Amino acid sequence: MIIAGCGPTGAMLAAELRLHDVRVLVVEKETEPPSAVRIVGLHIRSLELMAMRGLLERILPHGRRRPASAYFAAIPKPAPTGLDPRYAYLLGIPQPVIERLLEEHAVELGAQVRRGRAVAAVEQDDDWVTVELADGERLRSRFLVGCDGGRSTVRKLLGVGFPGEPARTESLMGEMAVGIPPEEIAVRVAEIRETHQRFWLRPAGVGVYSVLVPAAGVSDRAEPPTLDDFKRQLHAVAGTDFGVHSPRWLSRFGDAMRLADSYRVGRVLLAGDAAHIHPPIGGQGLNLGVQDAVNLGWKLAAQVRGWAPEALLDTYQAERRPVAEDVLDNTRAQTQLLSTDPGAQAVRRLLIELMDFDEVNLHLLKKITAIGIRYDFGDGPDLLGRRLPDIDVKHGHLYGLLHHGRGLLLDRIERLTVGGWSDRVDHLADSTAALDAPGVLLRPDGHVAWIGDDQRDLDHHLTRWFGRPVH
Ligand SMILES: Cc1cc2nc3c(=O)[nH]c(=O)nc-3n(C[C@H](O)[C@H](O)[C@H](O)COP(=O)(O)OP(=O)(O)OC[C@H]3O[C@@H](n4cnc5c(N)ncnc54)[C@H](O)[C@@H]3O)c2cc1C
Repeated sequence: MIIAGCGPTGAMLAAELRLHDVRVLVVEKETEPPSAVRIVGLHIRSLELMAMRGLLERILPHGRRRPASAYFAAIPKPAPTGLDPRYAYLLGIPQPVIERLLEEHAVELGAQVRRGRAVAAVEQDDDWVTVELADGERLRSRFLVGCDGGRSTVRKLLGVGFPGEPARTESLMGEMAVGIPPEEIAVRVAEIRETHQRFWLRPAGVGVYSVLVPAAGVSDRAEPPTLDDFKRQLHAVAGTDFGVHSPRWLSRFGDAMRLADSYRVGRVLLAGDAAHIHPPIGGQGLNLGVQDAVNLGWKLAAQVRGWAPEALLDTYQAERRPVAEDVLDNTRAQTQLLSTDPGAQAVRRLLIELMDFDEVNLHLLKKITAIGIRYDFGDGPDLLGRRLPDIDVKHGHLYGLLHHGRGLLLDRIERLTVGGWSDRVDHLADSTAALDAPGVLLRPDGHVAWIGDDQRDLDHHLTRWFGRPVH
């Protein structure tokens, strides 16, 4: 298996595939990990996934917990009631740190990462994908996954459409030293932020400031801006360039929103920013990519290992593309709510009032944190297709049983069996489990694939998700 791109999506996917002993090579264009220290937020579902794979303890010391309020359009509200306190927070963490931790995890599990190697061409036939790297080396694999970011080469090589709205604004972001006293900066910044949402200058370590300022226009360029670009824009917005100098890193980002027409062409798939891009409002992009990876990993592994039921791999697009569509939509809504237009401000005031209703607050939180997702697995109880929370079970809690990325039958009536699927699905007979159902079958991504007490019906669903039994 070849993965193009060792960002958070590619690294997470590599680790998921390794859980199933699939040989994985990640080719990454850049020779060094990224230096741009944008702080990203891990939302509840991603924290749960990290716990499911035994990674949360490793990640927590590197981040800062903030309260789990909805973060919808930056409207500050207390968290709604009823959240599991174990995961009811947002973890602020520098993106390079989470990327490093995920890459280390993948490598520990046996993935191979080759840096300074970019995918340049792709060919495929019924059985193989041939990948040509920029240095001319040719590699062959059963599948290729493009986790190569918003400007994805793989997506372009496949000819997959990426329709949506082009960027209307662009922002410059970076870390640098400043040449004027902190008190003066604070006063000036407070004034400007009254009218400019996309502006800040705030301390980011000893003598260093994090700077965000609107760009002069939309360039859609990949290369980073220069210090002169920052000075010019700071002057234009603030009337002073704050004496900025000695940048640590400089970057730019736009507010384009695009969704790939297709997540799969034959043996080549797309995940993360390669499949969807949107502005960072609500902090959902990295979360979405990591969740794509957890949805896709076990399905691809099943295909490679030969036990995948027909069409299992197609459920990846069927399940994940609507989720991305919804994220794009909520981002559009949030963008409108941040506009200084009087009409938009009136709608914002109304929403602020509505969010005092716990149900409204919870609904928006579920959207942003991805704990409200329900995949369409057909008719059934509301829990079917949803993720199962980390309930208490015998000798511990549920997510502690999902570290190996296998399916799990949680059997409260203690008379069900996983029979010939025991090589792919674990069985916990536990009449004490804090679950309001006789039995549930969980997929490796923690979503509920079956609920009931009838063994024949269970066998049918085991076949549906995990293929034929071994005997
Ligand atoms: C200012 C800002 C703030 C953000 N805040 C948040 C937040 O709070 N929460 C959140 O969830 N998201 C946030 N995001 C979004 C998040 O950064 C992205 O969604 C995330 O990086 C996507 O991960 P990815 O692995 O899919 O793609 P990327 O991170 O773009 O990684 C793609 C990788 O592929 C490599 N690559 C590219 N081309 C090739 C090639 N041809 N061959 C091989 N390798 C290649 C690249 O070098 C890169 O390493 C923010 C984004 C910005 C700009």
